Amino acid sequence: MGRVHNFSAGPAALPEEVLIEARDELLDYAGSGMSVMEMSHRSKEFIAVAERAEADFIELLGVPDDYRVLFLQGGATLQFAMVPLNLLGDRDTADYVNTGAWSVKAIEEAQRFCRVNVVASSEARGFTDIPALSEWRCNPDAAYLHLCSNETIGGVQFHDFPDTSVPLVADMSSDILSRPVDVSRFALIYAGAQKNIGPAGLTVVVVRKDLLGRPRAGTPSMLDYAVHAAADSMSNTPPTYAWYLAGLVFRWMKAEGGLAAIAARNARKAAKLYAALDGGNFYRTPVLGNCRSVMNVPFTLPDAALDAVFLKGAEARGLTNLKGHRSVGGMRASLYNAVPEAAVDALVDYLGVFAREHG
Ligand SMILES: *Cc1c(COP(=O)(O)O)cnc(C)c1O
Repeated sequence: MGRVHNFSAGPAALPEEVLIEARDELLDYAGSGMSVMEMSHRSKEFIAVAERAEADFIELLGVPDDYRVLFLQGGATLQFAMVPLNLLGDRDTADYVNTGAWSVKAIEEAQRFCRVNVVASSEARGFTDIPALSEWRCNPDAAYLHLCSNETIGGVQFHDFPDTSVPLVADMSSDILSRPVDVSRFALIYAGAQKNIGPAGLTVVVVRKDLLGRPRAGTPSMLDYAVHAAADSMSNTPPTYAWYLAGLVFRWMKAEGGLAAIAARNARKAAKLYAALDGGNFYRTPVLGNCRSVMNVPFTLPDAALDAVFLKGAEARGLTNLKGHRSVGGMRASLYNAVPEAAVDALVDYLGVFAREHG
């Protein structure tokens, strides 16, 4: 069987060019006679891989000089704890916006360390929108304000960000590098790699330097950003192969024209899919128009009894991983950077055929 059109929410599709490059270098990386997987993280070959990946990431996202980029482990989930442990300082409260399942997880973890003020929540509306800024009840004494820029499960995305008086922190796990972002508006950005960056096992953190070095008492050294910054993310053995693959993805992104070109393509992909879902009276999309995600598109069929039929027909066409998250039901198509436009075209085609057959 050839390669499928993979709409997985994560771990997710990687660019085919990257996989081919990794395959070609798998046994002998750059004449070293060994795989990147087999080399010391202190070797000059790997240091060069790591430095290039970091430099390319900084260039792609436009990270200013007063920030550090860290390549860590533990997933975005560990950041739910590392953020409060490192950013609370002498404060005992933090602001969180609740726009979906990942916000909830971040809130629950932060509650282990401080008082969490939920400034606004769309939970009562089933997480189908972003509460209007005018309704946010921010606390000026909060150590920071946390939001999830793209709710991977609910398909709700911030298309612009609030001006905040306290440091702004964003979980960008599922939309980092999908569009240009003004990093200077954030104190800290974090993302698990397995959605839009590379394989699982790597977490990227972008943190403003002045926030380093004031962890809460008792913070394990491995959870202290400053420890990782001082060691260039090699305080212990980093996930070398995931870091290398992320570097290949960054290089691929640059060759594709950088974030502006990639964002334009992502917008086109999402527009095509939403148009297909909105056309006719067959599919339903739960999320309010102005906060629909460009990355994760949940939708339902008129009758849940059709779900299995839909998925079976999709599989037969090589359209995989379309089953929605159990908490939302229905379907979800994830359209990360590495999902080619042709995959979306194939899905749109199938949506039309299926609606005609079952409408
Ligand atoms: C996937 C995801 C997470 C969890 O990431 P892990 O790497 O599994 O810890 C957190 N937040 C968002 C927005 C996600 O998409």
